[in-house]
Amino acid sequence: MKKAESAAPKRRRAAEVLDRLRRHIPDLRCELDFTTPLELAVAAILAAQCTDKRVNRVTPAVFKKYRTARDYAEADPEELETLIKTTGFYRNKAKSIRALGAALVARHGGELPCDLEQLVNLPGIGRKTANLLMADAFGKPGLIIDTHQIRLNQRLGFTNQTDATKIEMELRELIPEQDWTDWSHALTLHGRYTCLARNPKCDECPLTDLCPHFAARA
Ligand code: SF4
Repeated sequence: MKKAESAAPKRRRAAEVLDRLRRHIPDLRCELDFTTPLELAVAAILAAQCTDKRVNRVTPAVFKKYRTARDYAEADPEELETLIKTTGFYRNKAKSIRALGAALVARHGGELPCDLEQLVNLPGIGRKTANLLMADAFGKPGLIIDTHQIRLNQRLGFTNQTDATKIEMELRELIPEQDWTDWSHALTLHGRYTCLARNPKCDECPLTDLCPHFAARA
């Protein structure tokens, strides 16, 4: 049986993975359009079970109509649902967005708090979105564990877990804090465009010699 990789070589391999992806993907960023933390929170709620591209087609009209947390809290449900309908699950999403607006007004003076634990306690904000807000709205380190992260960290041999929170905790030990945000965007974008779920494009990937999944397929 193959010996398990110990912590130090695994950390070196992770650093090399990030280094290569930084060179391979020059623009490491979230693909949702936004200009404020509140806009990013709303866009992230709309992005559940929907592509970022489709969300970006919908949000300009939403952001124009609703500018503050109170605007969302007091939004007419049907008007909001009509604006976001094409993102799917629009009734639940409208409910979450209105509840988020109300909670922000009630608890945080209408502003999103720059605090992971306070963010995850808000309606509509799970741990993934809370980390996204920390990283991209507040410029703090954030490990954003989405479906691409789970798949790629498994394929690259950095986790055996399937639970997003457990993977986040493992990565906290593996990746230096200052690299958490780049790691999140690098693996997510690589998963979205190259290391696809069904047919990974290994012939276009700069990580083949670092990837146990590729070695097992070869
Ligand atoms: S070599 Fe293939 S399986 Fe491994 S990370 Fe690259 S695309 Fe994914």
